[in-house]
Amino acid sequence: MPGRPNRIVMLLLALAAGRSLSAQDSAIVVLVGTGFPRPQPGVSGPATAVVVGSRVFLFDAGAGIQSALSAARLPINGVTALFVTHLHSDHTLGLPDLILDSWVMGRRTPLPAYGPPGLRAMTAHILAAWAEDLRVRVAGLEHETPITPQVRVHEIAPGIVYDSGGVRVTAVAVPHGALRHAFAYRIDGSGRSVVISGDTRPSPALERLSAGVDVLVHEVYASETLRPEPRPGGEDWPRYMHEVHTSDVELGGIAARSRPRILVLTHLIRMGASDSTLLAGVRRGGFTGRVVIGHDGDRY
Ligand SMILES: [Zn+2]
Ligand SMILES: [Zn+2]
Repeated sequence: MPGRPNRIVMLLLALAAGRSLSAQDSAIVVLVGTGFPRPQPGVSGPATAVVVGSRVFLFDAGAGIQSALSAARLPINGVTALFVTHLHSDHTLGLPDLILDSWVMGRRTPLPAYGPPGLRAMTAHILAAWAEDLRVRVAGLEHETPITPQVRVHEIAPGIVYDSGGVRVTAVAVPHGALRHAFAYRIDGSGRSVVISGDTRPSPALERLSAGVDVLVHEVYASETLRPEPRPGGEDWPRYMHEVHTSDVELGGIAARSRPRILVLTHLIRMGASDSTLLAGVRRGGFTGRVVIGHDGDRY
């Protein structure tokens, strides 16, 4: 089992004992979904959770989010708060699933959702699209409880965006192609620190944010297998990847300088590359510390 078994065992013992977890319980990273736009069996869209005691902080809501939360043994009736890194579809396709299904599964309070400008409009459009569902579930024999608002949206700017009960979440702006707003997040709580990159090309701000963190969860593509694609415009594919995402070699350099205790690769754009090819790329970049390939459900 990957990660820190002592922490996981402590959490499982606490759950088995039926006690509610306290803020003393360690912050644990759960890889809820490690995919990207390409559908893959057994791999859900981008989503990472940080669990601190009984609180679950979710970063992005990719396709299949509710099933992925269930598979990861995390709550399906609403997380403590959602943080969206950016509004690309692969990171937000699960938003209607998270909002609507968590309500049907018993959520009784508004879902707090933090993210870039545009998240409020996206959420409003989702609620409008499913207006009849929302109406009939309340008016009909299901007797669902109406919640107003269904989502409490916070459109954020860089800085501390959440600070409550010993958990602080800090956002930094990262460069991600032509998107106007993309954020990486750092979570500090229970004596642990975690950085989640979201999607970004190499970012000095993200590198500074990650200095000495316990866990750096970072997107990556395989430099070894990056080629022009056989389609109209496909000759620009390597340039696109270079401008929008972070290669394994570049990530190795970032990690060598920021020195996380563990580097976890997610949002794995392999283009056919094997685990060992990706890891060799990180090593070529100069990182000699602990690095792992992320899989859905892994805990660190
Ligand atoms: Zn993405
Ligand atoms: Zn993206």
